[in-house]
Amino acid sequence: MTRIAIIGGGISGLAAAFALEEHRRAGATVDYVLYESSPRLGGVLRTEHIDGCLVEAGPDSFITEKPWATDLARALGLGDELIGSNDADRKTYVLTRGRLVEMPDGLMFMVPTKILPTGLSPLFSWKTKLRMTQELFHPPRAVDRDESVASFVERHYGSEMVDRLADPLLSGVYGGEAASLSVRAVLPRFAEMERTHGSLGRAMLAARKKMSKGPRKPAPPLFTSLKNGMQYLAETVVSRLTPTSLLINAPVQAIQREAGSWVVSAGLQSDQFDSIILALPAPAAANVLRLASPELSAELAAIQYSSSITVGLGYDREVRQSLPPGFGFLVPRSEGKRLLAATFVHNKFPHRAPEDRALLRCFFAGSNAENVWPLADDQIIAIVRNELQQILGLRAEPLFASVYKWKSAMAQYGVGHLDRLDRIERLRQQLPGLALAGNAYRGIGVPDCIRSGSAAAKQLVET
Ligand SMILES: Cc1cc2nc3c(=O)[nH]c(=O)nc-3n(C[C@H](O)[C@H](O)[C@H](O)COP(=O)(O)OP(=O)(O)OC[C@H]3O[C@@H](n4cnc5c(N)ncnc54)[C@H](O)[C@@H]3O)c2cc1C
Repeated sequence: MTRIAIIGGGISGLAAAFALEEHRRAGATVDYVLYESSPRLGGVLRTEHIDGCLVEAGPDSFITEKPWATDLARALGLGDELIGSNDADRKTYVLTRGRLVEMPDGLMFMVPTKILPTGLSPLFSWKTKLRMTQELFHPPRAVDRDESVASFVERHYGSEMVDRLADPLLSGVYGGEAASLSVRAVLPRFAEMERTHGSLGRAMLAARKKMSKGPRKPAPPLFTSLKNGMQYLAETVVSRLTPTSLLINAPVQAIQREAGSWVVSAGLQSDQFDSIILALPAPAAANVLRLASPELSAELAAIQYSSSITVGLGYDREVRQSLPPGFGFLVPRSEGKRLLAATFVHNKFPHRAPEDRALLRCFFAGSNAENVWPLADDQIIAIVRNELQQILGLRAEPLFASVYKWKSAMAQYGVGHLDRLDRIERLRQQLPGLALAGNAYRGIGVPDCIRSGSAAAKQLVET
């Protein structure tokens, strides 16, 4: 019997445990123990039900295009629970000189694919619009060197595009800044488009032309979630695991190699295993690996993490009627606000709020999250309300407001991230029976974390 320790009970560790259960059902002789430091499993997947509204404290959905979360939900028998975002009402605004301006139709991330809506949009100056036209003549470029997303986007479209779109869009995902994120790790498709086509605009148009030749399928919704909320995914995984294998309130201090096996130290207990899946944020993984491999620990510690805060606010019918249509808005740094974004949840996922309620989800990330972090919840709510008043003219008293703080939960893939992953992989291979999973490596979103957990389990079962 192979004994495996899974360290970390977020969705990455849970996906690993579920995969081990499946391998066991298929005949593998494995046993596992999952260690989770906190009293609850699921990590940042947390859902609350307040006043008839479903409030997501952490992730609210995942990108449909990445199949691993949907696959896991289906494997758990939750196919009927899956819901798509209400894309018929998909509109996103960008705060531009104090006004909400709709993102023009045909914008693929920041690449315009429809001339008229972009040309007429007040989101960009004439200078940027001219750069968009010139971009179509950008020559192909094969460079091995990584660079920041900001410098890549600036080379193609100029600095206004970085400020208005690239930076706020990426901050919403990674909590970091376009100036420090790696283009090869964060936007690999765009780096590839530059290599093959030069112009991102021409590459997008070529891809669309190719797609339009195939059979026409209705586009799937951009985002998928669960009717009962994201926490329900974690809870359902937990319900399929062996209860005696799950240890909560069990922070692991260290793992060490001793006489061909791994010793896991958690509190005053220690236990022996053949293999380990470290499903932790990189700084926590670095800590537990300090003794086993100072080199690997140092590489993991160098992966930066940022903190984020979400605030869920519920309002009455009148507010719902007064808010703009669409999914919500982004706030570029240059607008001088502390909020990074807000989602109109009642439009994006209508069944998450009764018809007589408006549900807003506001988001602070990076340095703005760090700045408001020490404040009490009611002070943070006051900042949110003040900025919502400035941006939306929203003065009404919320029916409820809840603040959720996530310390160092979002990995930021800095310039050179992929080279660091190569070094991490070389060092990992020197430690037999060690697998790594989580959001530090090749994707921060829920689907990628699930993929990493399942892959870690497969790697250990097959060796
Ligand atoms: C506010 C927020 C919004 C997000 N929104 C989205 C979204 O909309 N869509 C999307 O796809 N992704 C989103 N993400 C990203 C995604 O949710 C996370 O990257 C993913 O859930 C991370 O899962 P994980 O299991 O790797 O890590 P975590 O959820 O951080 O779990 C790690 C677990 O390890 C435990 N742990 C730590 N140290 C130890 C130790 N020493 N011993 C034992 N246990 C330990 C922790 O308590 C925790 O439970 C969001 C993230 C945040 C924070």
